[in-house]
Amino acid sequence: MYGEYTCLDCGKTFDDPKRWEERHGLDSPPYEDFSGCPYCGGAYTRTILCDACGEPIVGDYVKIQTTGDCYCDECFMMKSLGEDDS
Ligand SMILES: [Zn+2]
Ligand SMILES: [Zn+2]
Repeated sequence: MYGEYTCLDCGKTFDDPKRWEERHGLDSPPYEDFSGCPYCGGAYTRTILCDACGEPIVGDYVKIQTTGDCYCDECFMMKSLGEDDS
């Protein structure tokens, strides 16, 4: 099972983003709150699973308007090529 979020940098999935404070060397609040990937600290997004291969999609994906299915670039290419063959 995949986590709710996917890291855009390292591609791992996780349920709980890491949160931390940036104090800018100050002794008292307000501090800035950040959140990011617990593995690399990178930006993350909600996990979208490819309906063809079942893998989490990092980056671009294609949503098929007629069915509402989401495909990763790779599967969409294969699907397009397959349709070209027929
Ligand atoms: Zn990461
Ligand atoms: Zn796929």
